[in-house]
Amino acid sequence: MYSGEPVSLEQLLSSREQRGIRQREWLTKHSLPLISFTINMVGEVKVNTLSRVAFKQGIEAIAECCQHASVFFSESQSFEPNTGLEFIAVASNITALELKAHMVDIEDSHPLGRLFDIDIIDSDGVAVSRDSMSLPRRRCMVCNDDAKICARSRRHEKLVIIEKMSELVSSTLR
Ligand SMILES: [Zn+2]
Repeated sequence: MYSGEPVSLEQLLSSREQRGIRQREWLTKHSLPLISFTINMVGEVKVNTLSRVAFKQGIEAIAECCQHASVFFSESQSFEPNTGLEFIAVASNITALELKAHMVDIEDSHPLGRLFDIDIIDSDGVAVSRDSMSLPRRRCMVCNDDAKICARSRRHEKLVIIEKMSELVSSTLR
């Protein structure tokens, strides 16, 4: 489920830059909070069965949640370069902080939530962080500890992480 086309660090950096430029364009155009949804994928392959399944389910969860909260997308689009899948949406009828709280809820409660990275950027272009809202930190999908600490110290082998991701994704397909 992990196999796919490997990408270089250079390609990743350039795609991150493109993503930033696009987000700024959308913010300028709409002056509303922006949702940027990507998949946390370890290693040099970013688009594969794991990320595609998680991406699809994530978009569904975001759309459903926003529908419940009477949030409307003024504009939304999915991008699928081999450097990583991204869904962006401009949200109206909600504040960036409220939106972040909803997205944190999805990240923490959806079966594949730990694969999701749902960023909220306010209309001034500032990303809303969990810390700034005193919300709990993200948990590592392997050991349940603070995910940032595990990522920084590379606590888990790539294969262990891939195995865990595969297990989570398979459990949603049964
Ligand atoms: Zn861990």
